[in-house]
Amino acid sequence: MSNDYINNYKKITNLINSYKKKYNKDIKLVVVSKTQNFKKIVELHKNGQNDFGENYVDEAESKIKQINNQTIKWHFIGKIQSNKIKKISEYFSWIHTIDTEKHIRKIDAFCSQLDKIMNVCIQINIDNEASKGGIHIDNFANLSNIIQQMKNIKLRGIMAIPNPNKSCSSAFAKMKDLYNSCTYLDTLSMGMSKDYLSAIENDANIIRIGKQIFGERK
Ligand SMILES: *Cc1c(COP(=O)(O)O)cnc(C)c1O
Repeated sequence: MSNDYINNYKKITNLINSYKKKYNKDIKLVVVSKTQNFKKIVELHKNGQNDFGENYVDEAESKIKQINNQTIKWHFIGKIQSNKIKKISEYFSWIHTIDTEKHIRKIDAFCSQLDKIMNVCIQINIDNEASKGGIHIDNFANLSNIIQQMKNIKLRGIMAIPNPNKSCSSAFAKMKDLYNSCTYLDTLSMGMSKDYLSAIENDANIIRIGKQIFGERK
């Protein structure tokens, strides 16, 4: 029983591989390891997984230090707090939840000190939910222009978390249209355990999966 997550992981990667063939494109799986013990991350890494997503900076820092493996790429997918940006800049290769100019300028400054380029996605609040982070889709061009002026941030794409109480397909279709209208982007980050197949059908090329691999979080 304790190795269920490895079997679940293998099932998902097989399924993703079949979609890669079907659509003749790359699809990257980010395994969302928030609340999971670092040993599970190490086991999945031994099974070929290099990209992991974390939401909480202090929890991530402790696991990243214990695992101490340079081939693992860490994706920050949580809400950004100003006072954590220094650590986010230090430990992560990707940030999927960019939504303010203030944060962009701080990340660029820290990454300049660290002499690194941060890969980022702008988070779009696609169903306009007050409880969620992300910008209104109409503000995308403005924030995108700001990021493109930064030396140490590379704008890779857009990310969204649809309202779980609505059908995800119209949200994903809007994201797909924006993504395909911006030829300078190469990343459409959307799709979680419950909706990743619909996301892939709408051109997602990074999906972020936790529960489908590890089971319900405690
Ligand atoms: C937790 C989380 C996920 C993973 O969700 P699951 O339902 O566990 O697959 C993906 N993306 C973000 C931004 C998350 O916070």
